[in-house]
Amino acid sequence: MSWFSTLEQAPPIEVFDLLKQYPNDDFPQKVNLSAGAYRTNEEKPWVLPVVRTAETALLNDEKVNKEYLPILGFEAFSKLATRILLGDDSVALAENRAFGVQCLSGTGSLRVGAEFLATKLGKTVFYYSNPTWGNHRLVFLNAGFKDAREYRYWDAENRSLDLNGLLEDLNNAPEGAVIILHACAHNPTGCDPTQDQWREVARVIKEKKLFPFFDSAYQGFATGDLDKDAWAVRFFVKEGLELLCGQSFAKNFGLYNERVGNLSIVLNNPEKIPAVKSQITLIVRGMYSNPPAHGARIVHYVLSNNELYDQWRDNIKTMSSRIKEMRQKLREELERIGAPGSWNHVTDQIGMFSYTGLNAAQSQHLVKKYHVYMLSTGRISMCGLTPSNVEYVAKCIKETLT
Ligand code: PMP
Repeated sequence: MSWFSTLEQAPPIEVFDLLKQYPNDDFPQKVNLSAGAYRTNEEKPWVLPVVRTAETALLNDEKVNKEYLPILGFEAFSKLATRILLGDDSVALAENRAFGVQCLSGTGSLRVGAEFLATKLGKTVFYYSNPTWGNHRLVFLNAGFKDAREYRYWDAENRSLDLNGLLEDLNNAPEGAVIILHACAHNPTGCDPTQDQWREVARVIKEKKLFPFFDSAYQGFATGDLDKDAWAVRFFVKEGLELLCGQSFAKNFGLYNERVGNLSIVLNNPEKIPAVKSQITLIVRGMYSNPPAHGARIVHYVLSNNELYDQWRDNIKTMSSRIKEMRQKLREELERIGAPGSWNHVTDQIGMFSYTGLNAAQSQHLVKKYHVYMLSTGRISMCGLTPSNVEYVAKCIKETLT
């Protein structure tokens, strides 16, 4: 007899499954376009120079110890993280009605925020874009939400935003529903609303009394500029909307595995902040008690030093520019060799990913036959492309389509 005998096998998580297979594949020309992690032109992971500088300083600082952080994390880090999101001139910050809680990267910030909304504010319904990052649904359902719904986002035929569909779905959402919005560099489509389109989204959210929950996993990665990439969140705040925003420092600091994140909360009544903090304290205490310090110390070190802050922005530019160059190269190569279809979407899209338009069978064919690892939704990470593999990838895409 075993208590586990009725347990069924859960499905694998596609992206982690591919990451596991990749190192064991001995095909010489294999290419990894599945992971959402930056790579250099030499296909190597990159520890940002500012991160090295901060780590060296922290290592030599005898005051740094391994004691517990408070339950809500390293407050000085959270203050700076919320500030880069909302901007130095934020009215909400000036009015002391915005604050942050250090959480376990972007995922943990979403999870803590979602559990707060579900268990403390009684929210049950949430909406995510179709398509969205593969984890939103699971994170929100695990956090206690009951009703997962989609809003239209991607117009596959025109490879662009389905604004009318999006607005119609939000218009029909029940009052109080939580709407997950990608702050920038939408994953997986690489297609963001324009500023005018965001204005319309905000208008419906306000009119229909919906609750915006931004997911900001790529600030700096979309345009290379931290302020531009935070425009939508800042606009919603200016419009007087209350909101939550989960911030990840995995991508823009290259701190994937350090799990550095921040849940920013903007509310209208600052008097309620102690109550919100006390409730989130109970959530975190019962989940993981308190977050790890190392990554948050690195980010804090950089953000609180003007010179390093400027260097960090240069590091972000290095990453976002390489991605843009690879978009250009891939498109040029696909067009040069005459791969069927149009490829302007590759350069129109922004951020880390491109939604190629390849279907599941074609994507799996690229993995199996050509050892080009990508998701079955047709999503490729631009970071895995380099000057030495882009021609091979373009050739494989062409052969798959012809
Ligand atoms: N949201 C989106 C849209 C993402 O793409 C990711 C990372 N792939 C995350 C959140 C969370 O990432 P992490 O937990 O590693 O910060």
